[in-house]
Amino acid sequence: MRFGIYNKQSPQMRCRVCGGLLEQRVTDLPFKIGDSSIVILKALPVLQCRQCGETELEPATMIRVDQVLAGVDTSSELEVIRFVARISCSQILAGCYLGT
Ligand SMILES: [Zn+2]
Repeated sequence: MRFGIYNKQSPQMRCRVCGGLLEQRVTDLPFKIGDSSIVILKALPVLQCRQCGETELEPATMIRVDQVLAGVDTSSELEVIRFVARISCSQILAGCYLGT
């Protein structure tokens, strides 16, 4: 892994439930917005516990999720959105989601 000029220390993250090691995964997760809307984010990068399967989001991912969810049309009960951590429309033409 390369962090470029950022030389931040990155302590090994551990599961808050069982203390097991978290590993990076890509998965689909549902998020509830408001009273009746559910948004499913596809291809979301998460940290998943090897022992108990608990999933956590990295802070940067959480911020991006907030941005995506803020732009969702809450009048529909179910939305499925392909999560794009860094917007690059050249690769994902059909599913490109611009957030705002
Ligand atoms: Zn765990």
